[in-house]
Amino acid sequence: MSTLEFRNVVKDYRVRGGRGEKGRLRAVNDVSFTLEAGKTVALVGESGSGKSTIAKMLLQLERPTSGSIVLDGAVAPRHGEALRRYRSDVQMVFQDPFASLNPFHSIGHHLARPLLLHGKATRSTVDEKVRELLGRVQLGPAADVAARRPHELSGGQRQRVAIARALAPEPRILIADEPVSMLDVSIRLGVLNLLAELQRQEDLGVLYITHDLATARHFSDEILVMYKGQVVERGTPDDVILNPQHPYTQQLAEAAPDPEKRIAERRAARA
Ligand code: ADP
Ligand code: MG
Repeated sequence: MSTLEFRNVVKDYRVRGGRGEKGRLRAVNDVSFTLEAGKTVALVGESGSGKSTIAKMLLQLERPTSGSIVLDGAVAPRHGEALRRYRSDVQMVFQDPFASLNPFHSIGHHLARPLLLHGKATRSTVDEKVRELLGRVQLGPAADVAARRPHELSGGQRQRVAIARALAPEPRILIADEPVSMLDVSIRLGVLNLLAELQRQEDLGVLYITHDLATARHFSDEILVMYKGQVVERGTPDDVILNPQHPYTQQLAEAAPDPEKRIAERRAARA
């Protein structure tokens, strides 16, 4: 059971202005939330609102300007063995499954590497463990898939490989940064359902980053709406979607297809 806390985090980037002058861009402005085992928090916001910056800080790829990241009561380590352990506990699925896989390496290699690196398999057990991982993301036949290169798989299959790779170190927290936005609409739900199923089975804490309020509602326990680096609204999915308070959330909720809400509106109009 793990808890990852993001406490009052601020992230400023140094940027160059139009005439070469240096300035500062506040990408994340005083954001706090908690990821708990077995729960999904959805981070919803338009492009540029600071979502991926939050993901990068959670993975220790970027440092907060201020604030802290705390895993099970301990400040997230920045170096050495402790950081390696942190990185096996907190794993990520990226938006673009093609860019995140090396075209020259087989699928088997992509999965064997983290298993060996994080001590979850030995040379003699690694093939079996790779097969097991492929089974968990419902890819098969395992021997066939393991021998292939990324370009020999479909986008959805590649994303399943990326999920399997994230599961290899046996993480407790999974960050999924727009995991289906580059996939065909027809296969998105399958990948999201797989993530939800794995989460239940493994009791993972999940951060689901998306700009899609409809899937956030379906797949999360809590929704945080980001706007220009700040959380402008948060609550249970029903609260946020059926009773949005912030104008930006209202726009999002109106744009999201939601049959229940339309039915409620029609009833209200008749009354
Ligand atoms: P999102 O994932 O919600 O689309 P990002 O977190 O990628 O948003 O970006 C938030 C803001 O920070 C954007 O204005 C973006 O241009 C800026 N930004 C992101 N990374 C950097 C960087 N390395 N240097 C400067 N600005 C950055
Ligand atoms: Mg992003």
